[in-house]
Amino acid sequence: MSVVKILRYGDEKLRTPSKEVHKVSSKVKKIIKNLIDTMYAENGVGLAAPQIGENIRAFIIDVGVNGEPANPIVFINPKIIEKTGAVNSFEGCLSFPDAFINTRRYANVKIKALDKNGKPFVMEANEGSLLAIAMQHENDHLDGILLVDHSRNRFETDQILAEKDLPPIDTNYLQEEAELEEEIKNSPQLEESNVQN
Ligand code: ZN
Repeated sequence: MSVVKILRYGDEKLRTPSKEVHKVSSKVKKIIKNLIDTMYAENGVGLAAPQIGENIRAFIIDVGVNGEPANPIVFINPKIIEKTGAVNSFEGCLSFPDAFINTRRYANVKIKALDKNGKPFVMEANEGSLLAIAMQHENDHLDGILLVDHSRNRFETDQILAEKDLPPIDTNYLQEEAELEEEIKNSPQLEESNVQN
């Protein structure tokens, strides 16, 4: 079991775009094992390789409820192939300890990726489910995009970040998402959650 250090917001590696995995080598397998051990140790529902300082395109998710056996889903070289609808999501991130941010997300996403053995699969999640949000959140990490870049209210987010002793929003990364915002304003709100990705 190797629990490794999770990088905090402000670390440049979180902003570095990650590289494609060409082979699920023993090195890649070790990184995935570290992701799994670390995510469970920190009670997260997802963790991406750059968060542990490894800039490769891989992340894991486990949105199982308490009591269910651990069942981490491994995504290697993921690609979002469909995204529709919009929701607002109150979400956290293990790289932003205890900060929960109101973000804009797509409601429905479909991702294709390779599994832990390098075999292709497609996964779909809908209606702003925890899995749908987590897939977008983790996929973003591979491109150096972070949850605060999807803030619905950047001033409110900056206040939360300051309270948690984290750096402010970097406006160079802010995502515009005017269409998502418009759709969210006209749709029901999601319940507040307290999971960290
Ligand atoms: Zn995260």
